[in-house]
Amino acid sequence: MTNDYCLQHATIDWPLRSVPQARREGDIYWSFTGGLDEKRHVYIEGNGLPERFSSLKQSSFQVFELGFGFGLNFLLTASAWSHRAQPGQILHYVAVERAPVAPADLRRLLQRITISNKERLTQIYPAPVAGLHTLWFQPNVCLHLYLGDARSLLADGLLRNIDCIFLDGFAPIRNPDAWDPWVLKQLALASRSGATLCTYSVAGHVRRNLQAAGFQIQRRPGYGQKREMLHASLPPDTHEGTPLTVAPVSVAVIGGGLAGHQVARALSRRGIQPTIFDDGGIRLPMYALSPQVALNVNPESRLSLLGTQFTNNHLDVQRIGLQRKMSSGRRQRVLASLHPDVASDCGNGLLYTHGGFLYGKDLFTDETNTPDNRIQRGQVLDVVEQSDRVVVTFQPIHSPSTQIDNFDHVYIAAPDRALTVLSPVPLTPVWGQSVVIQADSTIDGPVIADGASIIPGPDGFQVSATYDRDRHSQSDPRYQDTEVLVHHFRRSHPDTRVQSIRAITGQRTTTPDRVPVAGPAPDWQALGAYCADNTQTRPFQNYSDRIGLLTGFGSHGTTLAPLLAEFLVASMMKEPTVLTRDLMTVLLPSRFLLRQVGRLQTPL
Ligand SMILES: Cc1cc2nc3c(=O)[nH]c(=O)nc-3n(C[C@H](O)[C@H](O)[C@H](O)COP(=O)(O)OP(=O)(O)OC[C@H]3O[C@@H](n4cnc5c(N)ncnc54)[C@H](O)[C@@H]3O)c2cc1C
Repeated sequence: MTNDYCLQHATIDWPLRSVPQARREGDIYWSFTGGLDEKRHVYIEGNGLPERFSSLKQSSFQVFELGFGFGLNFLLTASAWSHRAQPGQILHYVAVERAPVAPADLRRLLQRITISNKERLTQIYPAPVAGLHTLWFQPNVCLHLYLGDARSLLADGLLRNIDCIFLDGFAPIRNPDAWDPWVLKQLALASRSGATLCTYSVAGHVRRNLQAAGFQIQRRPGYGQKREMLHASLPPDTHEGTPLTVAPVSVAVIGGGLAGHQVARALSRRGIQPTIFDDGGIRLPMYALSPQVALNVNPESRLSLLGTQFTNNHLDVQRIGLQRKMSSGRRQRVLASLHPDVASDCGNGLLYTHGGFLYGKDLFTDETNTPDNRIQRGQVLDVVEQSDRVVVTFQPIHSPSTQIDNFDHVYIAAPDRALTVLSPVPLTPVWGQSVVIQADSTIDGPVIADGASIIPGPDGFQVSATYDRDRHSQSDPRYQDTEVLVHHFRRSHPDTRVQSIRAITGQRTTTPDRVPVAGPAPDWQALGAYCADNTQTRPFQNYSDRIGLLTGFGSHGTTLAPLLAEFLVASMMKEPTVLTRDLMTVLLPSRFLLRQVGRLQTPL
């Protein structure tokens, strides 16, 4: 990871009638005679992917690539997968790139070649924010693109169950880090028994390092003028890796608000239709989407930048950027840590390229086509894990009697501390108000200034929000809050005639550190005992496999809920991680207690 929030793009030279070349490494991206055909030969056919995809019994397949470059191996793999995967099977393609190519270079290269779905790659290709980007390329293909150094991703120890590895970095002599013994050993540890690895390099030390890591190697005929390539595999009984979970049959989401709907969306990407329990929250007509970037680089801001990109890529965001007004001194300092593709100076503030706003209907529209019986109206009274089931006690809205249901997995996206499993999490509700103002004025896009947002919409300008910490239950809009918001609007639109004002109240929930809670539910009793025992030095390990917690979004629901819902669902289903360890740690539901005893670490 770099010191800044973003990486630099690779500087690429485009020699006439030749292949693109990375200036820093002084190396070409593929051989002069090879191109797509060579990649197909070495990586797709070399690993036997067409046959393995056709005969795959497990629900997913995981490829790891070192050196994403222009994404050609990814496109070839996705294409082979599309023709052969069975319904319900998912390809997870984890790729690492420390010098991502610029979008313009990517488009330039892809224009020259014929390969299916290449436009989709240019659509989802992320800005160079350092970290792990989760990008659903098509319904059964998820690209996990890590922008940063492979060593830091591998040091996290979160990669598991790799089926196949592509070593396609620059030549070992120009890029020795990518081929060193430690990297190859970590890859072996993260792979399943029988996993295969292919590379174009047959250099002696690459072969020796692979053997030392536990791979059995074989030289095979190379492509075209290249005499040889390398095929390696882990023996069948090396280790088992984490067994893949069987997809849960019955899943419930408690809370049908912004976060609950994102969990339902993440589940539906995996073909799971949950039952949603909701007692009727408030929805706004529009929501601003904006990253929060601190001057000192910290995990929370990185999360915010990655979350903004995820929302922008996977939801129907009105993509017009978002202006955040700030002083010129602060502006320059924030800009210095960001890439111009992420934010630019717009005179009196920053324009965040991936910010914007969403209509409430697009956040809550149920893509999952949830049938009526999947939405249960009423209040969940408790959620308790009992051996291999989770029991939900529920009070339907128009029924005198309670109802008890059992589920394989339950996600709690309701900020209700009356639920036993959520009661130790320090959540604070904060009521607030927005107004929708009809006025004869225009602004191009959403603006955040002096802590309030103004979003232009078809029914007027939505101005948000006030923070009423002294209010403890839902009540009618307050005159003084409306005044504050209208005053705010008039300050930025002094000559505007206000025609009508409609006020909406709502509630958000915050935590003491202003960071949401996202992760498996801790066994709170075991956590209490762990914290009381000063001799414990290993990370706390007792987390539920069946109950996930997701709440405490404060004012950042649109920025963080879609990404964190994806993270939580992926981790409950033992899929490749969506977040790196540092980001997982700041979100742990157990962090408040673990911090008190100075032992905050993610489980191994
Ligand atoms: C005035 C205002 C303006 C805002 N503007 C923005 C904005 O522009 N951009 C932005 O990103 N965020 C904004 N927010 C914040 C945003 O609304 C929250 O971040 C978001 O709603 C959090 O989602 P959630 O699902 O965690 O909570 P909620 O949306 O509150 O949903 C929780 C749901 O759980 C239900 N529930 C609770 N307990 C139970 C139970 N026991 N059983 C069944 N159901 C239960 C509730 O009824 C509710 O429907 C604003 C908030 C307010 C108040």
